[in-house]
Amino acid sequence: MTRPRIAILAMGGTIATRPDASGVMQMGLGADDLVAAVPALAALAEISAETVSRVGSHSLSFDQIHALAARIGALDADGVIVTQGTDTLEETAFLLDLLLDRDIPVIVTAAMRNPALTSPDGPGNLLAAVRVACDPWVRAHAAALGVMAVMLDEVYAASDVLKAHPTRLNAFAAPQTGPLAALVEDRVVPLSLPVREPMTRARARLGAAGRGKAQPVALLWLGLDEPGHLLEALIGQADRLGYRGVVLGAMGGGHVPERIAPLVTRLAGLLPTVVSPRAGGGPLLRQTYGGPAAEIALRAAGLIWGGRLHPLKARVLLETCLRAGLGRDAMAEVFDAFG
Ligand code: ASP
Repeated sequence: MTRPRIAILAMGGTIATRPDASGVMQMGLGADDLVAAVPALAALAEISAETVSRVGSHSLSFDQIHALAARIGALDADGVIVTQGTDTLEETAFLLDLLLDRDIPVIVTAAMRNPALTSPDGPGNLLAAVRVACDPWVRAHAAALGVMAVMLDEVYAASDVLKAHPTRLNAFAAPQTGPLAALVEDRVVPLSLPVREPMTRARARLGAAGRGKAQPVALLWLGLDEPGHLLEALIGQADRLGYRGVVLGAMGGGHVPERIAPLVTRLAGLLPTVVSPRAGGGPLLRQTYGGPAAEIALRAAGLIWGGRLHPLKARVLLETCLRAGLGRDAMAEVFDAFG
């Protein structure tokens, strides 16, 4: 039986670290090293390995992920695995999902425990990712699954996966939807297919988003009794600061402290401003609460309604919309599709 051709693209991250002379972990391993650490890969697939970068994912840029998407788009392979750091995996996987239109499995994986520790998870995650990419159900449903993340024997949709703990081995979860599949023994057990319509509609609107240049987007997390000074700065010094859009991690179903509602409204008149749930995801309200600081008034004032995406993913989507040159109404439509 011919083995699927799986391309492994290494970006860096804990999975690719090695200890320096003082014992501190530094970026260092390339794609060949990662593959060499997992001899079982050869039985599953015809592996090709490419080192794209050696950086911590906390230092990746939007431009690097656009370049990665272009590279993946040009690959002649039956499946692609990206290895990177865990810190921004929930964002990079989502951005790749927005940019890629391929009907082969594309999977992002990483490691929480570095190779110098007694039980590093990188090799197991890489093996699991390749196993998922080679699985007949996954291959048959690749377009419907979109970009996936594989961590600790679970498969997650890019729109839903979150890093929910800074250090634990089981740091990844999809709290809203659960995993798409689980790995048990050497089997991939399908559990669900993601709802892809919002992504399809977003992609249709975004077109060749990769061509535009990077667009800084601010993310403001609103807390109890927020005084609004950063909002004042965004309004008063918009040119100097250079932000092109703002995501507000808002309270509850789409609420802000009443004292800053006038500022939020002014900001929305100046820059595309997205209201997103600081609860970490889940659909927002649209027509329940009255008053100047709740959803009915904020929507009428021109705030873009973020839907069920986590604020970090909303920020990625807003950057992509801005880069694609979409106007406010088109952006609102894209976000609206996400519920
Ligand atoms: N800071 C690292 C990174 O994101 C952490 C990790 O890989 O888990 O690259």
